[in-house]
Amino acid sequence: MGRPLFRESSCNRCGLCLSECPVLGVPRERAGEEMEKLVEGRETEVLSRCTSCMTCNLLCPAGCSPYHLILRRWEERYEREGLPLRVRTVLPLETPNFLSIARESMPEDERRMLSSWSEALKGGKGGGEILYAGCNAQIFPYLLRTRLLEGLTAVGEQSLCCGEIYYRMGLLGKMEGLPERVGRRLNSLRPKKLITFCPACYHMLRDIYPDFGVGLDFELQDLREWLWEGMEKGRIELRRKLDKRATIQDSCHAKLLGESFLDLPRKMVEAMGMEVVEMERSRRRAMCCGIAEGICSYNPFDIVEGAVRQLKEAERTGADLLVVYCATCLLILSIGKVVYPAGMPIFHVLELLQLATGEEPLRRNMQRAEDMIRGLGEKTVFSEERFWVGCEREGGKCATGA
Ligand code: SF4
Ligand code: SF4
Repeated sequence: MGRPLFRESSCNRCGLCLSECPVLGVPRERAGEEMEKLVEGRETEVLSRCTSCMTCNLLCPAGCSPYHLILRRWEERYEREGLPLRVRTVLPLETPNFLSIARESMPEDERRMLSSWSEALKGGKGGGEILYAGCNAQIFPYLLRTRLLEGLTAVGEQSLCCGEIYYRMGLLGKMEGLPERVGRRLNSLRPKKLITFCPACYHMLRDIYPDFGVGLDFELQDLREWLWEGMEKGRIELRRKLDKRATIQDSCHAKLLGESFLDLPRKMVEAMGMEVVEMERSRRRAMCCGIAEGICSYNPFDIVEGAVRQLKEAERTGADLLVVYCATCLLILSIGKVVYPAGMPIFHVLELLQLATGEEPLRRNMQRAEDMIRGLGEKTVFSEERFWVGCEREGGKCATGA
C-alpha cells in the first residue's frame, strides 16, 4: 500500500515549519531542534500540541510534508497505546459513532434522505452529476434539501467514508484498502462529474488518494466551486441582498486546496451583499474550528474549548454572523455555542444562499448539536478503557490478529 510520506532526505531541519506553525510558533532555533527530535522519534511537545491543521505542509519550502511525519509518530503511539474508548465515536466505520448518534434523533424526513442516498448507490446509471454525501452530509442531511442542488443525485452511506479522520489521526495502517475500495465504488457509478459536499472529501479524493495509488475516472469538483460556477453562469439567481457583516471560519482542508479555493466562500458571501470581516487568523493561518484540538489529545473538552475560542475570535470581528462552508465546522461550532450561547448565529454558506435566493433554510444545527451532546453520554466520554481499531485485545494481545 502506498501512503503519504515525510521526505526526510530533503529536510535540512531549518525549523521554518514549526516556527511558523499557528499553534506552536516556537523560536526558529528551537523549532529546528524539535524537528530533529521528531525525525529521530524522540519525545517532543509537537506530538502533544499539534492540532493537525496541516499548515506546516504548506510552509515547508522543500516540500517535505512534515505533517506526514507527525502522523507517523501518532500512528506509532496508537500502535503502542491504542485509543481511549471515546475516540470510537468519531470513527465513521465503527459503531456506535457520531453518525449513528445523529441518526437516532433525526426527524423522519432526514432519515428518508439517508436511505435514498444509500439506494442511489445501487443505481450506478452513469453519465450525470453526482453529489458525494460523505460523513459530514450524513450528520446534516437537511442541508441538502434545497432547490440549489436540484439536478444532482446524492449518494452516500456510512461505509463510503473517504477516510479523512483516519488519515488525520495518523491511523494510516487502518486505512489499508479504504481508498482503493471507495475509489472503486465511486468509479463504478460512472459519473460524468462527482461533486464533493465537503472540502475534506475533495482534498482526500483529489490530493491524498493518489498518494495511496488510487485514481478516479471522472471529473471531480467541490460543491463550493459548483455553486460559484452556478452563480456566475446564472443557474443560481440571487433575489435578495443580505445586508450583514459576516466572518468566515475556514476549513483546514481548504488551506491545502489553495488561495483560489479560500476565495470562493468570500466571493459568494460578497455576492450576496454582505461585507466580509476577517478574523485575526484567517485563510491559510486560520485556526481549526476545534475538532483538531481533540485529535492529538483525544479529549472532547479540548474540542469544545477550541470551538469556544473560535466563537470568541469571530465575536471580536464585530460581525453579525459566522459563516462556515464545512459541515464539521458547523457541528463543532454549534456544539461550542451550546456551552457559549453568547456566540453569534452560525450559517452554512448553503443556508445563506437559500436565503438570498428566496428559500427558507431549515436551521437545525443547534438542535443537532444538543442531540449529539446528549447522545454521546457521560459514560463514553469519561471511560478509561482503551481499544485498537478492529482489534479485540485480550491480555494486552490482539485476539483478532488485526
Ligand atoms: S520539514 Fe521543511 S520546513 Fe520543516 S524543518 Fe524540514 S525543511 Fe525545514
Ligand atoms: S499540523 Fe498545524 S499544528 Fe501541527 S505542527 Fe503542523 S502547523 Fe503546527
